[in-house]
Amino acid sequence: MRVGRPVKALPQPVCDYCGARAVLVRGGDEHYPYRDDHGPLWLCTACEAWIGIHARSTRNVPVGRLADAALRDAKSRLHDVLEPLVAGKVRRDRVNPFEARARAIRWVAEELGFDPLPASIHHLSLEQCEQSIAHVEAFIAQRRPTAPDER
Ligand SMILES: [Zn+2]
Repeated sequence: MRVGRPVKALPQPVCDYCGARAVLVRGGDEHYPYRDDHGPLWLCTACEAWIGIHARSTRNVPVGRLADAALRDAKSRLHDVLEPLVAGKVRRDRVNPFEARARAIRWVAEELGFDPLPASIHHLSLEQCEQSIAHVEAFIAQRRPTAPDER
């Protein structure tokens, strides 16, 4: 039933770095940062910061905060360091990789006491990413000698 439901404003995000309103760009647009089309992005050209939107979102809802080069790099490194844990979880619990990654991020965020708990990796700050990477690396290093639940 859609009747009477108020229309929500477009969620135009604000750049965390400069406070400017991000603009929505699509593959092929002048300021689109990728050569290939990675779907629509909210972009701050001044900060070279951007974030994607939820797949199938009809209202261009961003998946998280705008990320500059340093944050994009940190998210990528956190993603990589989590992959062995994600792969193990997929094997053991037969969950799909997306679910396993979401749970891994939630686990790290809870371990480190992030408040509020991030909905996904795309909500983490640079500092939170760095803390998470260090925590996961320490966790993996510590359990490596026995690795009881590997394989
Ligand atoms: Zn900006």
